[in-house]
Amino acid sequence: MINWKQLSVSIHYCPICNGSRLFVKLNSNEISIRCFSCRATSVTLSLTTVIRSVCPEISSMVVYELSSRGPLKEFLERSSGILYYSEYFDDALLGSYTNGIQCQDVQSLTYSQESFDLCTSTEVFEHVPNDIKGFSEIFRVLKPKGIFIFTVPLEVNNKTIERVIEMPNGEIQYLLDPEFHYDPIRGHENILVYRNYGYDILEKLKKVGFKKAEFLNPENNMAWGVFPHCNSCLPRINISTIASSRPVEAQSI
Ligand SMILES: [Zn+2]
Repeated sequence: MINWKQLSVSIHYCPICNGSRLFVKLNSNEISIRCFSCRATSVTLSLTTVIRSVCPEISSMVVYELSSRGPLKEFLERSSGILYYSEYFDDALLGSYTNGIQCQDVQSLTYSQESFDLCTSTEVFEHVPNDIKGFSEIFRVLKPKGIFIFTVPLEVNNKTIERVIEMPNGEIQYLLDPEFHYDPIRGHENILVYRNYGYDILEKLKKVGFKKAEFLNPENNMAWGVFPHCNSCLPRINISTIASSRPVEAQSI
């Protein structure tokens, strides 16, 4: 929501536009920062900054992004060697195309093993019923030395809280009051949050075989107080990008 009294603008480097741009901060919350040119949010800006520093050779990389639109997808389309992208449509066959967009379920990807150098996602895994299966699938489709860079809403001082359990018959059982996030692809429909992630997400990644998993907060992360009046309140909101790399030797999972 825009709070006109707290609205501020400032010029900074945008890692997506790759130049100085006007940034707008819609209210006092660090997460409300947007690049005025590409409209990237602080989450996307954080993720892109990490991609730029971790993957200097991105122009020769085969990349898979778990969404089909937005500033991140456009950045990857411009920067990567080859880009694959998808959405999950619950009424389409996995691997089929709807309006030019491939349907994929991260819990059961149709790609061959060792297909990609880099996989990316923003704010997806909290909506995946079986996230361990999803992380395993990302691990499977990454090449040796491949890297997974992603964001989820994260309470870094807490342990992950599971909100929903999916029963073997597909029924879902709520452990806590249902929480939903807005889904831009399906418009008004909202998508269920299965869990609120905490620091132990790194253990989940290592459990499926990732060699290294770490939280990366880029120095020039837009969420960390580039606007003078929010210096006093950082780091109230923690936007961490998580990077996991696959070992050279595949491990048995
Ligand atoms: Zn921008």
